[in-house]
Amino acid sequence: MTIEFRDLKRQYQTYKSEIDQAIADVLKSGTFIGGEPVKVLEKELADYVGVKHCITCANGTDALTLVLLAWGIGEGDAVFVPDFTFFATAEVVAYAKATPIFIEVDERTFNMDPQKLENAIKEVISEGKLNPKVIIPVDLFGLPANYLEIEQIGLKYELLVLEDGAQGFGGHINGKRACSFGHAATTSFFPAKPLGCYGDGGAIFTNDDELAELLNSLKVHGKGKDKYDNVRIGMNSRLDTIQAAILRVKLKAFIEHEVEDVNKIASIYNRELNGIVETPYIPEGYYSSYAQYTVKLHNKEEREKLQNFLEALEIPTIVYYSKKISEQTVFINKMKEYETDNLTDRVLSLPMHPYLKDKDLHEILKNIQLMLK
Ligand SMILES: *Cc1c(COP(=O)(O)O)cnc(C)c1O
Repeated sequence: MTIEFRDLKRQYQTYKSEIDQAIADVLKSGTFIGGEPVKVLEKELADYVGVKHCITCANGTDALTLVLLAWGIGEGDAVFVPDFTFFATAEVVAYAKATPIFIEVDERTFNMDPQKLENAIKEVISEGKLNPKVIIPVDLFGLPANYLEIEQIGLKYELLVLEDGAQGFGGHINGKRACSFGHAATTSFFPAKPLGCYGDGGAIFTNDDELAELLNSLKVHGKGKDKYDNVRIGMNSRLDTIQAAILRVKLKAFIEHEVEDVNKIASIYNRELNGIVETPYIPEGYYSSYAQYTVKLHNKEEREKLQNFLEALEIPTIVYYSKKISEQTVFINKMKEYETDNLTDRVLSLPMHPYLKDKDLHEILKNIQLMLK
């Protein structure tokens, strides 16, 4: 058996009868958009996260776009995003015609650095060209961003905070769950995310009644009271009924054992790799859902050597992310000098999922130790 980076097949085999039944029930019902499974799932997700409203939609990128649309973000607005994240976080800002401002991350947590955020806000204000409007912190690799400080900064400068919890679902800070921070939060159910479906899916979380109502309209073509009375320009962005039914089964497994299981695996990785590579740093009071288990090597050469060595043994690893957002071709600022960045050269994500067998974990560890000791 080969080692999978994220083993979705083994998860399916474990819950096959329940998942097959859930899909069959939808097929029998004849309702493929909306319906009971979507309604019930939204309630279960909101309860788990600990917020009033959950609005499901077609994917995590739409979830972010819908919130920016609801807040009326557009040309002339500045939106602060981390410079080290999946592209979508910044893409949605440019798509809304606003200007993304890239904030460097704290290399220990991989998350937006609050001090650098505040400096950037001050700079935008003093330049006077853009209106600072929104901060989008990302819970990278499953670890919640530093909301304690970022929410304070938001208050101080009267900015809205939108948590991009696409990778963070299941984590928490002192018991307050990911996707409950800021004015609104989003997540993704892309198959490889901590809670994934069997296609695309996403959700928005908020305690704001008015925002929730607006989002429910925007995701269905700006519908009014009646679906065929359109009161604003919106989108078509819904979670399929089949995906909702699958997610209900998967959410149960996620709550019952999956988040704990990845944390157990992380603690074994940490113990065995300590002193060999830089293992993930989880601040006091924080809990990660380990969307990725990402270590840091000393340099690019060492990373390449390890990655090639493991690849030859059919042990998959992935570099998240090899380029910062500000270095993406579409965003590149030709005026700026780019140094070879340390972080993007050093990161390497190892196989991580709740169904990783002890035997496979030890195989991975043995070979990393062999290569680097
Ligand atoms: C995956 C991801 C998204 C986008 O989610 P999709 O469902 O793929 O559209 C947004 N932000 C982050 C940080 C992500 O990892």
